[in-house]
Amino acid sequence: MAEEQSSGKKLTIGIPRETTPNERRVALTPDGVKKYTGSGVTVLVERDAGKDAFVSDAAFELAGARVVDDAASIYKNADLVLKVQKPSKEEIDLMPEGSKLIAFLSPMFDLDLVKHLQDRKITALSMDAIPRTTRAQYMDALSSQATVAGYKAVLIAAYELPKFFPLLTTAAGNIPPAKVLVIGAGVAGLMAIGTARRLGAVVEAYDARSVVKEQIESLGGKYIEIDTGADLAGSGGYAKEATDEILRRQQEGLADRAAKSDVIITTAAVPGRPAPRLIPASTVERMPAGSVIVDLAAETGGNCELTEKGKIVHRHGVTIVGTLNLPSTLAVHSSQMYSKNLQNLLALMIDKDGQFTLDMDDDIIANTVITLGGAVVHEGTKQRLNPATTPA
Ligand code: NAD
Repeated sequence: MAEEQSSGKKLTIGIPRETTPNERRVALTPDGVKKYTGSGVTVLVERDAGKDAFVSDAAFELAGARVVDDAASIYKNADLVLKVQKPSKEEIDLMPEGSKLIAFLSPMFDLDLVKHLQDRKITALSMDAIPRTTRAQYMDALSSQATVAGYKAVLIAAYELPKFFPLLTTAAGNIPPAKVLVIGAGVAGLMAIGTARRLGAVVEAYDARSVVKEQIESLGGKYIEIDTGADLAGSGGYAKEATDEILRRQQEGLADRAAKSDVIITTAAVPGRPAPRLIPASTVERMPAGSVIVDLAAETGGNCELTEKGKIVHRHGVTIVGTLNLPSTLAVHSSQMYSKNLQNLLALMIDKDGQFTLDMDDDIIANTVITLGGAVVHEGTKQRLNPATTPA
């Protein structure tokens, strides 16, 4: 099954300004734009779309884009809209039937959005549905953005902590290094371990998949073993959801470590599921006064019971950071990386003559398309919409 752009018609790509609060990234940077304008594609960019990522309208124009003032005209005229965050319902309503959209859509969580895209017959691809395969790693925006988040989480912790990270030997006395505990050693966690080590902290890390032990050690971290009676390694490098009993054992195993930590960075996640609750309030109570938790799982409920989504709170003398969308705070590099991921994905769809083809026989495309021709085609999302059909 393949869906094609009507032959001979050159593509029009639209890059609107992001409208989600605090979103500073831009989906495509000028080097990407140049690639498409070079093959005769029209690229419409909303004025100031790159402003918060320090990309000027002039740079887009130099790359051959047409800068327009009116976001509505982009949604109405583009065959393919490229975004970082999901568009609003109003923005989707402007898009013609059959037009295409690529963004982070979190389809498993935002079923209303999926139904709206289905009703409007938009062909929507979600950057968070790209499979975790070797061939797809160049398009893996979840990984590139998690790299940014893991790095920034450590910088936030260092900023909030009323202590040094490195060991210091000074005339004013000796200072021991900060103790950092990283929970969840996937892409963000490994970046956090490396960053905390570079700042001179002593780092321990835990993950429910014991296969990451070597990776933690190669970055200079100490792997924590907790006997939970099960290894949660699932398919595609992801973890399986922990049972209540496993969670209880993890909480117990982590509590003593947490009581000795100056900083905890939590990144534990299971795709499409709420974040595992690994740090209960009783563990926070045991942490040293002035210590810091940065909870990268705040968006999906938090790994810490006391995390408040989007806020920095102080509980039992501990600063708990639930700030959302850390990649946006490094907008220059996160945009560059996202844009590169997007170009690598688009290379499967746009040929050198600027023609668009959606090859549903390609496994990356088949996994990434959420809605097509008025139908929901993404398996995980279909199951969420019709739980009765979920396989046992
Ligand atoms: P993620 O964001 O879904 O999860 C972060 C980490 O949380 C994972 O390491 C997971 O094991 C851990 N976790 C989940 N439940 C937990 C629990 N109850 N207790 C402790 N830890 C828990 O995952 P991610 O970082 O996006 O990716 C995870 C892994 O996938 C990577 O480390 C890698 O091995 C693999 N991966 C492969 C590719 C590829 O092949 N192209 C790309 C990206 C990632």
